[in-house]
Amino acid sequence: MLKINEIYFSIQGESSKAGLPCIFVRLTYCNLRCTYCDTEYAFYEGKDYTIEQIIDEVKKYDCKLVEVTGGEPLVQDECIDLLKRLSDEGYKVMLETGGSLSIKSVDQRVMIIMDLKCPSSGMLKKNLYDNIDFIKPTDEIKFVIGNREDYDWSKELIEKYNLTNKCSILFSVVFGELEPVTLVEWILEDKLNARFQLQMHKFIWVPTAKGV
Ligand code: SF4
Repeated sequence: MLKINEIYFSIQGESSKAGLPCIFVRLTYCNLRCTYCDTEYAFYEGKDYTIEQIIDEVKKYDCKLVEVTGGEPLVQDECIDLLKRLSDEGYKVMLETGGSLSIKSVDQRVMIIMDLKCPSSGMLKKNLYDNIDFIKPTDEIKFVIGNREDYDWSKELIEKYNLTNKCSILFSVVFGELEPVTLVEWILEDKLNARFQLQMHKFIWVPTAKGV
């Protein structure tokens, strides 16, 4: 059994797949408490589903892209089986994870979007850097930047772990904390090989909307 917060159909908003229709499976629970978290409703609320029930629900939508997200989906061990099962069913599966729990057992067909938490998140000490060894070229590492300290820290980390040669790098702003134009200017000044992105759903719907 997995505790599921919500399953819904929307637009992928935060990766190189941004803009594509996508089915979201949001798992309950998170082991982190980021200062900027916008999905606190996923910390505890949810309903028990078997993997079969999740697949049945996903099949209701005519779409082949599925994102498993949270909360932190990897808190629930059975998430690993869910990712495999969705891949077996022929879905292009994405996993959005906060980067504090091991991705070692994640099915190789799954595209992982992994955060490395910056200082202003308050969760810096939770980053599991061993995960970098398991990142594939098709995966993406995301930095959510709240201020200049976060930006400089991210740049150093990219260099230290040679991340640009391992996978795609995503940079986004903490919504309401840092002006997008400021981050774009920093990236351009440094000619950083990173993809700037906005949380698209926050511009399409009201920023606090759930299930989008
Ligand atoms: S990892 Fe994601 S869901 Fe968990 S506290 Fe941080 S922002 Fe919220």
